[in-house]
Parts: sequence; C-alpha cells; structure tokens
Amino acid sequence: MFENHLPTEELQALDAAHHMHPFTDGSALNKKGARVITAAKGVWLTDSDGNRILDAMAGLWCVNIGYGRPEMAEAAKRQIEQLSFYNTFFQTTHVPAVTLAAKLAQIAPGDLNHVHFANSGSEANDTNLRLVRHYWAAKGKPTKRIVIGRWNGYHGSTMGSGSLGGMKFMHAQGGMPIPDVAHIEQPDWWMQGGDSDPADFGLARAKQLEEKILELGQDNVAAFIAEPIQGSGGVIVPPATYWPEIQRICAHYDVLLIADEVITGFGRTGKWFGSQTLDLRPDIMTIAKGMSSGYAPIGASLLSDNVANTINDAGEFNHGYTYAAHPLSAALALENIRILEDEKIVDHVANVAAPYLREKWEGLIDHPLVGDASIVGLMGSIRMTPDKAARAKFKSDEGTAGYICRERCFANNLVMRHVGDRMVISPPLVITKAEIDQFIDRAVQSLDETHAKLK
Ligand code: PLP
Repeated sequence: MFENHLPTEELQALDAAHHMHPFTDGSALNKKGARVITAAKGVWLTDSDGNRILDAMAGLWCVNIGYGRPEMAEAAKRQIEQLSFYNTFFQTTHVPAVTLAAKLAQIAPGDLNHVHFANSGSEANDTNLRLVRHYWAAKGKPTKRIVIGRWNGYHGSTMGSGSLGGMKFMHAQGGMPIPDVAHIEQPDWWMQGGDSDPADFGLARAKQLEEKILELGQDNVAAFIAEPIQGSGGVIVPPATYWPEIQRICAHYDVLLIADEVITGFGRTGKWFGSQTLDLRPDIMTIAKGMSSGYAPIGASLLSDNVANTINDAGEFNHGYTYAAHPLSAALALENIRILEDEKIVDHVANVAAPYLREKWEGLIDHPLVGDASIVGLMGSIRMTPDKAARAKFKSDEGTAGYICRERCFANNLVMRHVGDRMVISPPLVITKAEIDQFIDRAVQSLDETHAKLK
C-alpha cells in the first residue's frame, strides 16, 4: 500500500506544483488546494483530514460494486502472479481476455457477441469512429463516413470521442470537432421544451436525426451515437417517445446505432444495460466504467454479429491499443461481473435501492429550489431554479446555484456533482437503505444552505 506520511498542506502544495487536474481551472484550484482522498470502503471515502464522505457519484459514475473489495485485491494478486502482461496483437490471446469476451457476449443484449477492447470509454469511442467507417467501406459504401452525435452529449475527451460529444466548451479548445462529425439537439424537455407536450417534444427531437440524415445525404451517414440517458450532460432522461423513433430512423436509413453505455451499463439503470431499460437495439455498444467498477482501466466496443463479421471479412483492421484486454484489467472486470452476479446487485438496484431512492429523490421537488427531479435506476438529477413554474435558469451560465450546492455538499461530507444548475448523482449500486437516508439528509441540508446563500 502507498503510505501517506505527509500532512495535507504539503500534499496540496506538491499537487499544486506538479499535478495538472483534468477539467479543472488549475490556478483557481492551486490557490485553495485539492481535497486529498486517502481511502475508501463501500460508499464511503476518507480524506486526509479524517472526514468520512458519502460518495453519491461512485467516483466518476463507475464504482458500481463499491470501494475496497478484498475479492478484487485477491483477483489482482492472482492475475499478476500468473500473467502480469501479454498483448493480443500478432495472433495471440490470453485466458482473461478470452474469458471476459465470452462473458460480455453472454450478458450483453441481442447479438452483441463480439468485443474489441480498449482502456477507457474515450478510446472505445475512438475505435467506434474508425470502425463504422471501415465497416461501410467494407460494404462497398465508402462515402458513408459521417457520425452524428448530440449537443451536450458526452463520449470522452480524445479528439475523436470529444468530437462525437457535443460539449461546446470542449470544442472551443484544441480544434474539435474533427471533420465528418455532425450534431443534433438533445431531448431535454425541461430546459428546451417550452410549451410543448413532452411526448411531442421527444418525437420532434428524434425527427431531427431524420432531418440531419436527409440534409447530409443518407449515402454519407455512417452512424448515430448517443447515451441512452445522458450522464455528464446532466442526467437527462428522454421522453418515452424519443428512442423508438430514433430506432426506426436508424433502421430506415441504414445508419448504425451506437449506444454509449459507459455510464448506463453494468446495472446502473436497474437492468444490466440501459439499452434493456429503454428497449434499444444497438449495432455497437460502448462500455467502460462499471465494467471493472473502476478497479482498473478498461473499456470496450461490443459489436453485433453483422458488424463484427463484416470487419473480420475485410482483412486487417489496422487499429489497437497495447494495453487492450490487459490481463489485470480483464481479470478485475471478470471478478467485478462475478460479484455483480453472485450478490444479485442488479436485482438490488431494481427492487431495493432504486425504488427507495426514487421516492426520496422525487420528494425533493417540494424543496423551494428544486424544479425537477429525474431518476432512472441509480442515476438521477435535480434542477435548481429561481422560478419553478417558468422552468427558469439562474442567470450565470456557470451554474452559480450548482457551484454553491456542490461546495455545501463538500462541507457536509457528501459528493454530488453539479452540471450548471443541476445536481447529479450516481451512487455505488450497493448503497443500502440506511445509507440512502444519510445521503438524502445531507442533500437536503446542502440544498437548504444553498437556498439561504442565494437569497
Ligand atoms: N462515454 C460516456 C457516456 C461517458 O460518460 C464517459 C466518461 O464520463 C466516456 C464515454 C469517456 O470515458 P473515459 O473517461 O473512460 O474515457
């Protein structure tokens, strides 16, 4: 174990001097110092000042089985002693890679029977971008190259995956999006639906895909990529009319559907995959995060028989990552899936944790700051608003209410994330009813304090 012998201030000073944090205003952070997390167990984090913090974000939407499992430590030790590394290039394979691929094929819906491994969700989506273009070229339709994503969608932070995503603040830096990527609007009724009925709005937003395909030309569009439920964009649950229409349009125009299940996979929505909860039939599925519950970096693209067979029959696909299906990551993903299965954790979400949390979460709508409370399985959001009836936003685009609330959560030893004026949650799937009670108490206290500060 890496022992921490330094006092918090010294760790913060070294952090400020040498560590550049992702998605962070470095100079602002360096002035105040980062919170130092030193240990974690179940749903609880410990920081270097000895605070016990309830992590309602499961790290970054990933620690599905909870922190600090001894079985995972054992699995890691066994695998390192047996085979610490080998690659899967050059016509070789290894036991964890084979076993994990077969296991994923077994639990994935439909005929997603083939696995192309990566080390993260971003990498897997970069793979998908190249893969769908290669697929259509192999089918004799090389002009089908454009991939359509959605504004405010998130698919990762590399050039490819960041381009597929629709985060304009990311595109503004470093030359994204790359060519041959297009975007349509998101199905966010609360924020963008105006006076329309949610069902009509969902349908209209889905039809934007058809309009975009017709505008770009069916012969030029390779795929549509979307999260079944947007996560990083603020846990936006689409109206029920949305996905059936998207599915129809993709089939009609011969456009591959990529479901990015990096957050919604591995039990988060109360079924193994969000595609099952929302009744999608993707040709490709992106997975990562809950695949190993964050115990080791791993991601993958799950491919249908048709997509995989077409790629396999087209000769060499000149693409791959050194650490794809890394034996350690694959062994930990397998152990993670075993734990999810043996402890019936997906059933726990569907039958215990999600119904209990839903009732309390939706009850937050009575709070004077909260205009909307959405939740599917164990991913949820609340929208803070100065005027519930008007579904109004706070003035600052930076999410003043959200920022204050996140700070109040920190002070109350709770991790909730803010996305603009929204607070989002995604707790470990093993959260108990008693922990949900503690979580909601701290959330209400944080909302009360935010409300008081905003007055
Ligand atoms: N896709 C989705 C839906 C995500 O939420 C994320 C990360 O939050 C990614 C892709 C990128 O995954 P990673 O950070 O592992 O590259």
